[in-house]
Amino acid sequence: MAERPADRRPERLQRQVVVALESVGAIILDRRIRFEQPQLWKTKGEVLSRLRDQGLSVGWERTRSCSARRSQRHGHHGCGICGGCVLSAVSARVAGLTQPAGHYAFDILACEDKALADDGSRRAMSRGERAVAARSLGLMQEFAHLAVTPDGVLIADREARLISRNDPGFAQMKLLGLLRQHHAEWATFMSCLPARSWVREIVGQP
Ligand SMILES: [Zn+2]
Repeated sequence: MAERPADRRPERLQRQVVVALESVGAIILDRRIRFEQPQLWKTKGEVLSRLRDQGLSVGWERTRSCSARRSQRHGHHGCGICGGCVLSAVSARVAGLTQPAGHYAFDILACEDKALADDGSRRAMSRGERAVAARSLGLMQEFAHLAVTPDGVLIADREARLISRNDPGFAQMKLLGLLRQHHAEWATFMSCLPARSWVREIVGQP
């Protein structure tokens, strides 16, 4: 597969979108505006922790990060196994926030990989769903591992140059900080899992 051009990568596109919004806002308001992104270099776990500390986390569980279709959520708020659901569940856990019982079809903190239906019955995870969970959880673990391998520094250096042409050193420092924080949050999440857990089995940490 051909590599995506540097100016069409998500890191660069996000900056381009912000610049475009500033331009449109300036036209509408007839004055120069500037978008601030105070959470840009924070993990979702850090953002949720801050909200909790400031008493602003009420109702956050109504937000949805699930990318699965409604039919794949089995009547629940989220599927629990896509990338968005896994990141939300891990971040909530490290922030000390509790999600309602039955929030997800599949619970990554539970012992068994079975979906709880509305009628109280439990349905086993299909092979396809297990593949989705393995990919989401594997990426989270792989990302955490970067903090303790030389690859992490190399990747942070490469990405920093794409994010900021003007100050790649600053961007690299922030990216390495994000890697270290994610590593710590992943370790905290893993320590919360039951001794016998389907997630431990998938990520190979019995
Ligand atoms: Zn989901």
